[in-house]
Amino acid sequence: MTVKTLALFGGSKAIPEPFKRYNSIGQEELESVKSIVESGVLSQFLGCWDPDFYGGPKVQEFERQCEAYFGVKHAITVNSWTSGLIAAVGAIGIEPGDEVIVSPWTMCASATAILMWNAIPVFADIEPETFCINPSSIEKNITPYTKAILAIDIFGHSADMDAIMDIAERHGLKVISDTAQAPGTLYKSQKTGTLAHVGGYSLNYHKHIHTGEGGLLVTNDDDIAERLQLIRNHAEAVVEDKGVHNLTNMVGYNFRLGEMECAIGIEQLKKLDDLVAGRQRAAERLTAGLHELEGLRTPIVNPDCTHAYYMYPLILDIDKLGVSRTRIIEALAAEGVDGLAGGYVNVHLLPMYQQKIAFGSKGFPWTSDICRRDVNYTKGICPVAEGLHDSSFLGYEMCVYELTDTDVDLIIQAFKKVWANIEKLKLVE
Ligand SMILES: *Cc1c(COP(=O)(O)O)cnc(C)c1O
Repeated sequence: MTVKTLALFGGSKAIPEPFKRYNSIGQEELESVKSIVESGVLSQFLGCWDPDFYGGPKVQEFERQCEAYFGVKHAITVNSWTSGLIAAVGAIGIEPGDEVIVSPWTMCASATAILMWNAIPVFADIEPETFCINPSSIEKNITPYTKAILAIDIFGHSADMDAIMDIAERHGLKVISDTAQAPGTLYKSQKTGTLAHVGGYSLNYHKHIHTGEGGLLVTNDDDIAERLQLIRNHAEAVVEDKGVHNLTNMVGYNFRLGEMECAIGIEQLKKLDDLVAGRQRAAERLTAGLHELEGLRTPIVNPDCTHAYYMYPLILDIDKLGVSRTRIIEALAAEGVDGLAGGYVNVHLLPMYQQKIAFGSKGFPWTSDICRRDVNYTKGICPVAEGLHDSSFLGYEMCVYELTDTDVDLIIQAFKKVWANIEKLKLVE
């Protein structure tokens, strides 16, 4: 067999043209927005105790449809999932200085939402198979101050919810699911994100379905739902007239999503199952083509779960390959495989945590009396997550492209070509 010269060394590219960008927005969304623009009422929320406290007709229609789709009692829209996470942490009744256990292998907002209520993020390590928070690491990080667990269904695969809910029950903790990357997937025949006390989804433009910006909270708890709605919409001005007596965290924001976004959301929700199925089809074809390559681990999907492949996660066996991830990414990129990355810079290694400077300049909340112990954010606390980012994780950003079978086959060819040239790559290390 003749081995073709790598594009990195002047050969021709395995993928000559860039793939089509993912775009779930079409004529349906355009039509749905027209009548709202014509009406001139782009949002109908009022920040006081009034029927419009719950928003206009499209907000409510979208929320009722999400309740039916996700199989939950309450779905509550917000203007981003970052807002949704902040509302969720407040609604479960967190106190300043309470600790919330979260994984560092995520987008920064998962942990920032905890800080926004002056609570303290504590980082637990992840499972090497699913990249979600590891239940035994959660247990090791529980202290008398722990109040909640924030579990992220990262890349599109659910966290180990049975184990997490069991820990929560034994220790009297609340659980929040950040399911931004896994809408429409299943955990033991229930929709991922709905097993926690409160969970939800992002509707930003990278995600499977989107409304430009937006987010969606889901819960089966009436009390949490009411508090989420209050935090979304100026709680402090509403509680008295609504007859709400528990003022814990009834500090409101404007987290309201508009009529146009919700009209688009209604159309997007109809497409979600097909969009996820399309992503799964492409991922499974990719796995079938890549799984035989030496030193490369294709994604693991637990038997009782489905995967949404926001990111297609691969693991490199660097020792076996004898080539660094940087060199492999370089070689694949030269072949035309765009969108490869080394995964998340661990959140606890961001400057805010390393220097413990968040609110103001003097180390609040860590240096204040509300923080009752010296919380450790040094490198080494999450060896699995840190190691993945340092050397062995290789993520393909499937969310960016609309991949046809032909495209997937080209990606497979590019990988095979690079793998056939591994010995030559070693020479340039
Ligand atoms: C996208 C995302 C968020 C933030 O969602 P926004 O709607 O952009 O605020 C939070 N967590 C995870 C895991 C995400 O992927």
